[in-house]
Amino acid sequence: IRLEDNYNVVVIGGGPAGYVAAIKAAQLGARVAIVEKGEFGGTCLNVGCIPTKAYLKNAEIIEHIREASTRGILIDSSQIKVDMEKVQEYKNGVVKKLTSGVVALLKSNGVDIYQGVGKINKNKDVVVNDSQIIKADKIILAGGSKASRINIPGIESDKVLTSDDLLAIKEVPETLAVIGGGVIGTEMGQSFAGLGSKVIIIEMMDRIVPPLDHEVSAELTRIVKKKGMTIITSARITEIVDKGDKLEIKIDGKDSVIADKALISIGRVPDLEGMGEVKFETERGKIKVDKYMETSVKGIYAPGDVNGIKMLAHVAFRMGEVAAENAVKGNHRSIKLLSAPSVVYTSPEVAMVGLTEEEARAKYDDIRIGRFNFAANGRALASSEAHGFVKVIADNRYGEVLGVHIIGPSAAEIITQASLIMEMEITVDEVIKTIYGHPTYSEALFEAFADILDEAVHIP
Ligand code: FAD
Repeated sequence: IRLEDNYNVVVIGGGPAGYVAAIKAAQLGARVAIVEKGEFGGTCLNVGCIPTKAYLKNAEIIEHIREASTRGILIDSSQIKVDMEKVQEYKNGVVKKLTSGVVALLKSNGVDIYQGVGKINKNKDVVVNDSQIIKADKIILAGGSKASRINIPGIESDKVLTSDDLLAIKEVPETLAVIGGGVIGTEMGQSFAGLGSKVIIIEMMDRIVPPLDHEVSAELTRIVKKKGMTIITSARITEIVDKGDKLEIKIDGKDSVIADKALISIGRVPDLEGMGEVKFETERGKIKVDKYMETSVKGIYAPGDVNGIKMLAHVAFRMGEVAAENAVKGNHRSIKLLSAPSVVYTSPEVAMVGLTEEEARAKYDDIRIGRFNFAANGRALASSEAHGFVKVIADNRYGEVLGVHIIGPSAAEIITQASLIMEMEITVDEVIKTIYGHPTYSEALFEAFADILDEAVHIP
């Protein structure tokens, strides 16, 4: 093994947590190296956030074409065909642009790049591909996550796919069973339904995307069912039988679903390969970190999906930044996730920040709820997107905003306003002093805030 070099900071993993940490550490004056075993950009850019949104857009385009005649635009929608190879090519082009952008940013910030598997040895050095040693004052382990597998008979069939496989598929399956109706399953299910698959979501809990506010989950269920997807809840898969041309997915040992392919989307687990010979404190396979993103081993930080706190790219970005600052300048910056939104990119989109109604009721004795339906929003009506609602939860005494839940057009964009409101601790009465542009989807947020104080003008 040859000794390659000495660095102030070595980062393992070039996903959102790792590449941001490397760039930030370099910007703070550190000498930095980054080790990546696959493609820079990690899960998010290569097989997560970005490619899924490229697919989703295709589904949206098809939906618009189908609905066009209701608006007086006559197109023969029976002629729609999906050329999956072209779909892939387009998606791969977008991914390439972004991942090469990440590499360019690393290089322009003077970060040394090592391609290979990085592992930490007993001396707290990083060993790359078992052949090169790089020494580091501090290590940032940002190995991210991979799809979980469950142990059910038949799961090894090549017709049972992970989200990575489904994103590389060469033809649209006629029937797609989605095992696990969480964020990834519901999003990808809807994308493939848009592309023409008959989609059946099988979920173990009593509703899809369980962390969502009850009302929002119910509305999402109603809308996706109306669009033709089948949802089976409170269902446990007991066996998958590969029948040659089809899969039979057995539920609770009695019912079964027949499908061409199945997506297994039951969650993600940290990729701990980079831990190497160092033993960190872990909890259910997730690396334990403190508020500074430092692990139980001093000088080693673990931002992003590896710590399992909130497996989202924007959270990984911020954790990476915090880890880098603390690694370079000593622990001083802590992580705060109050204003981190969660988004489900379905159609319509779902977004939330803060507490659900159930959580708020458990924590506060006096809350108020404001609502506004997109059915009364001019922009949404003009765009045939008048589905869903905004729900704002506030503390009644001080007008503190506790949670905002949106299902409707541009929810993913609108939620950032709610994040800002919560981060800046802007109160309900202050929000409604703001003049919102008209017509905008965001006015629905304004009206929901006004509803809390019974001051909404546009609510019948
Ligand atoms: P990762 O992105 O997983 O990156 C880790 C990197 O480390 C990988 O490139 C890996 O190859 C590398 N690595 C691991 N171990 C080693 C090692 N030992 N040596 C060298 N390299 C190593 N989040 C959102 O916020 N919005 C979304 O819309 C969204 N959509 C998603 C859709 C799907 C289908 C999936 C699967 C995820 C989605 N996510 C989304 C989640 C998001 O992708 C992750 O939260 C994010 O990528 C985490 O960043 P990370 O840097 O911690 O890990």
